[in-house]
Amino acid sequence: MIRFGPAGLGGVRDAVKNLDHYASFGLKACEIAFTYGVYIKPFQKEVKEIRNAAKKLDIKLSIHAPYWINLNSPRKKVREESKKRILDCCRVGEVVGADCIVFHPGYYGKDDKEKTYQTIKREILDMSKEIKKNKWHVRLAPETTGKINVFGSEEEIKRLVRETSCFFTLDFAHVYAREQGKISYKEIYKPFKSFKELHCHFSGINFSSKGERNHKITSLKEWRELLNVLPKNKNITIINESPSPVKDAVKGLKIYNSM
Ligand SMILES: [Zn+2]
Repeated sequence: MIRFGPAGLGGVRDAVKNLDHYASFGLKACEIAFTYGVYIKPFQKEVKEIRNAAKKLDIKLSIHAPYWINLNSPRKKVREESKKRILDCCRVGEVVGADCIVFHPGYYGKDDKEKTYQTIKREILDMSKEIKKNKWHVRLAPETTGKINVFGSEEEIKRLVRETSCFFTLDFAHVYAREQGKISYKEIYKPFKSFKELHCHFSGINFSSKGERNHKITSLKEWRELLNVLPKNKNITIINESPSPVKDAVKGLKIYNSM
């Protein structure tokens, strides 16, 4: 089954109302956007209400961690703050009942790709220990990124999954932009074909020679092409990140149901 849903839960006070709204369209996923800050605190009374509503409506929650993260910063302070932001998301994720904690791992900076990989791997293992120690159920899901100078190619993310047992987020639009549009969704899916479960991001995208510029509305053609590639017998979540994520997710669901 494929679950469709938008990026964005809305403000704490509107969250339950928004989940009801999403469910009324048949959407079964939602990614809480902490991209500009972790705006829900674990002890807030609304957290339980959000958790219960999502459970009742069968909406799978995930969390997108803040953009302000660099696990490969040469400065230890920045690496520690980055981990803290991700772990803050894990803490909220645990009480709100979210599964994947999505994040962009970091930048190559002056390091070569292998050194960057090793540093990011070490920091992910460190966070995994913390998750285990706290007995949290959330999973770290580093994302394939859209810019060429940013860590997060398909190979890098897949290697992290293999070597740290973390989960992953496959952003089709990002990989498409990273590869300058010279790759099909089928080819993008291929490295992750063996996984029984996928957490995906999808939207239209503008790109330049450096990669991703911005997400845009998902066309019917793009939805069709993607859904033709994804199997129906796996647990797949597709979060739409276009400027109109609810409408676009519903668009995808309608196409899926007609296939
Ligand atoms: Zn992202």
